[in-house]
Amino acid sequence: MEVFECGRCGHALTVPLSRVPYPVYADFGYGNGHPMPVLMEAGTYAVDEHPAATSRRIVIAPGDAHGTTLAGRREPEACCGIDGHDGPNVTCVGCGHEVATRVDACSLWQATWLEPDAVRPVPAGPARPVADWAALTEPGCAIEPWDATGRWEPRWEAELAVTLAHLAAAADGALVTFPDGPLAEILRAPLDQLYRPGQRAAGRPVRRVALAGPGLRPSGPLPDIAVVPRHPQTGEAWPTPAGVVAAPLAVGYWTYLAHHHGRPPTRVTGRLPAGVEPDDLLPPRPWHGPYPVWRAYQVALERVRGRGVGAV
Ligand SMILES: [Zn+2]
Repeated sequence: MEVFECGRCGHALTVPLSRVPYPVYADFGYGNGHPMPVLMEAGTYAVDEHPAATSRRIVIAPGDAHGTTLAGRREPEACCGIDGHDGPNVTCVGCGHEVATRVDACSLWQATWLEPDAVRPVPAGPARPVADWAALTEPGCAIEPWDATGRWEPRWEAELAVTLAHLAAAADGALVTFPDGPLAEILRAPLDQLYRPGQRAAGRPVRRVALAGPGLRPSGPLPDIAVVPRHPQTGEAWPTPAGVVAAPLAVGYWTYLAHHHGRPPTRVTGRLPAGVEPDDLLPPRPWHGPYPVWRAYQVALERVRGRGVGAV
């Protein structure tokens, strides 16, 4: 683990943090005026090491900042909060130097971006143990991709874009097919947006896509592409058999698709007594297909093609 400290005075600026893979959609807006969650899990940080990365490349959860002060200033272009467009707005309490940018406006991921040239990481104890796949994919770890109103979660639509980029790179323009099930329900609409009629390369063999992962091996012939869980600490995709290309999906959503989605309805017999009305509402469901964050898709696709599966 590491603590980031002020490069000028050595004051600690964060709690001990564990490094995790960088989410490529970290600095992208979402929707219009949408309240956004915290990007990073508490106790973690991520670094964008892509050559095209900007000064915003070390990101932490705002609650993990320590020994800092938020500068009070006007942000006339911001909407519902601080957008950080005017540069660093967090200073070190030790020396007053600008060390980070806090962002919390609507449609922007809640995050604190450390200034790479103003901070330095120092060791702060052993790394967290790496969780095994069985623990990560227990049914209780599933993350529902929509909220309590039936609206798709921003993180789901961002992560879906990353998985689609892997899938598109693996398909390389070929038509893809899915067995009926949760994967087909989730991916069919965005793939229809991605591949408009006439865009698919003619004559290529169809690529078969299936969900695969711990405790869920495809039945029948192996697929060409497998949507598998991505490890949240290492960023590695669940290992696929030889000849099967992985399209990683954030493990919580993968677990949801593998264990929760599409539960068959329970047959009900009989009827309620006269004068009794049911009060158990059906759980909310989205009323339209997901809208992947296409900008994240484009960036992820460039990185997958440039550096190979597992790099995103
Ligand atoms: Zn300082």
